[in-house]
Amino acid sequence: MTTPRISFEFFPPKSLDASFKLSETVRMLAPLDPGFVSVTYGAGGTTRKLTHEAVVAIHKNYGLNVAAHLTCVDASRAETLEIAESYAAAGVTELVALRGDPPKGSGGFVPHPQGFNNSIELIEALAETGKFKLRVGAYPDPHPEAVSANADVEYLKRKIDAGAHSAITQFFFGAETFFRFRDRCAAAGITAPIIPGIVPIDNWKGVRKFAVACGTVIPPEVDAAYETAIRDGREADLSIAMCTELCSDLMEGGVEDLHFYTLNKPNLTRDICHALGVTQAATLENVA
Ligand code: FAD
Repeated sequence: MTTPRISFEFFPPKSLDASFKLSETVRMLAPLDPGFVSVTYGAGGTTRKLTHEAVVAIHKNYGLNVAAHLTCVDASRAETLEIAESYAAAGVTELVALRGDPPKGSGGFVPHPQGFNNSIELIEALAETGKFKLRVGAYPDPHPEAVSANADVEYLKRKIDAGAHSAITQFFFGAETFFRFRDRCAAAGITAPIIPGIVPIDNWKGVRKFAVACGTVIPPEVDAAYETAIRDGREADLSIAMCTELCSDLMEGGVEDLHFYTLNKPNLTRDICHALGVTQAATLENVA
């Protein structure tokens, strides 16, 4: 088994303390040589400026290939395309194009009166500029708004046909979930790369809550394992073991790329990458 190609997701900092945490995370993970890193766009479009600043800083200071997340929420088409243009002007040529989540408690996505109505319209408009490699979201466990599991696959096909280069999945707990989804995508004629999204679980309660909100199915044995591990004070050990096994299973099934949701906490992601054989290339300074 060869070592996987890796990429990392970060979120933009909202405080000085969070800003130091992000810098430390990027500093620790950059030596693992990710193919790209991505920076999220807060639900409800709340981190527009912060996302932009973080994307440009990471691109400039670390020379990493950064994909900026961009959503349709709470912005006109002109405003959204202006943000994209400002990325192109800063030399950022990858975007993760999403419909986006509405602000918490708002009860569902409502398009801005002059905005994009869905992710497909956004992807089409961004593709038309010819300036970006576009990545999109995909859902191995059905998205809460999908009318059926196949509806997600059909929608993904439309997003790829609209100009997307590849898809990154929502996180999931079992390799079979990803393989079933990959098979359904292949049967629907999707040939674009589908990169599994992996969450190294730093805090089970938080991840569990997020899984419930975004429709990720939680196997009962995972719940039980965390209950015991938390009681015994070995949550991190379980996370490294479970996540490394998931990644190994995926790679055995032919997966070559893994996208880690770092949650701006570098240690677990780094340890899992090391366990998978992804290590910092030795430099002259390391051996001198
Ligand atoms: P879409 O693919 O547009 O929709 C998801 C599913 O809903 C479709 O597969 C389809 O089944 C159904 N659906 C949606 N619209 C229609 C329609 N018009 N007609 C029929 N069916 C429809 N959210 C943020 O706010 N900021 C982020 O930075 C962010 N990053 C993410 C990164 C990744 C890799 C992923 C997987 C998700 C991310 N999200 C983010 C969450 C995402 O915005 C939500 O899941 C959102 O509800 C859907 O956005 P999408 O573009 O993936 O969905």
